[in-house]
Amino acid sequence: MKALVIEDTVTSATLICHLLDKMGLQSVHARDGEIGIEMFKQERPDLILLDIVLPGFDGFEVARRIRQLERDGEWTPIIFLSARASDEDLARGIMVGGDDYLVKPVSEIVLKAKVRAMQRIAQMRYSLLVLTRKLDDANRELTRLSAVDGLTNIANRRCFDETLLREWRRAERRESPVSLLLIDVDKFKDFNDGYGHQHGDECLKELAKTLVSCLHRSTDLVARYGGEEFAAILAETDVEGALGVAEAMREAVITARLPHASSTVADHVTISIGVATVVPERRDENGYVGLILQADQALYRAKREGRNRVAVAETVRLTEAG
Ligand SMILES: [Mg+2]
Repeated sequence: MKALVIEDTVTSATLICHLLDKMGLQSVHARDGEIGIEMFKQERPDLILLDIVLPGFDGFEVARRIRQLERDGEWTPIIFLSARASDEDLARGIMVGGDDYLVKPVSEIVLKAKVRAMQRIAQMRYSLLVLTRKLDDANRELTRLSAVDGLTNIANRRCFDETLLREWRRAERRESPVSLLLIDVDKFKDFNDGYGHQHGDECLKELAKTLVSCLHRSTDLVARYGGEEFAAILAETDVEGALGVAEAMREAVITARLPHASSTVADHVTISIGVATVVPERRDENGYVGLILQADQALYRAKREGRNRVAVAETVRLTEAG
């Protein structure tokens, strides 16, 4: 532990440094406020003993400046030194950022007690900082967990809802398109009936990984929408871009060749995808609900037309044509 003694009276400074040394504290000495502030910057002491009457800046001004120099969360105990101990001086000393007060000539016993008290406070403060940091970490982890699907480890429904709303509003401001993909595993009930739910879970995990691998932009998000349904939000993506991603997902799942003996579509797992793209219009606050509906209708059509395919929402086609 290092102490900075800012004191212009040499005999007093020598005595204090000697006493600190006896207590096992390293000390540095500054003869006036200006040097004291410089030494504070260089040495970053754990404790400051600060005379009130100094040439140049007085102790109050030095304390005020030192408090301004401290970094966020940093706190260096300051004990004022003065030959006279008026109530006003004490009050003013605390007001400008001091923590305690010592009357000169300094008594060894009192100095020792006050230094110990400051060490104790510093220790408690440090523990509190460590605890606060741990709490911050825990909070961050909780936030992460609340957005992640427990089985597949990708975004969950809650995260999907929040992201869609956020991207919808952003797209509205920028007048840019936002695309939504609703993805359904073909004949998944039969998969579970044939292989059991545990294999069903493994299958969903594999599919989640495969779908994530098809996204390339940091703003793209794929989430578990519910059961065997996934959803992808593609910000600032027009219908061609969205179709490209959807087709890539469908092919990636085929390439993964996850066996599905009871499927009537293929001998492996396949997916159907509904695509919808909209440029949000202002005043259409719940427009994103319509986007989900469009993607859902497209998905239904992809299934009706034989599954293992991508279908685009009708309204988008009309918009494109017109
Ligand atoms: Mg003095």
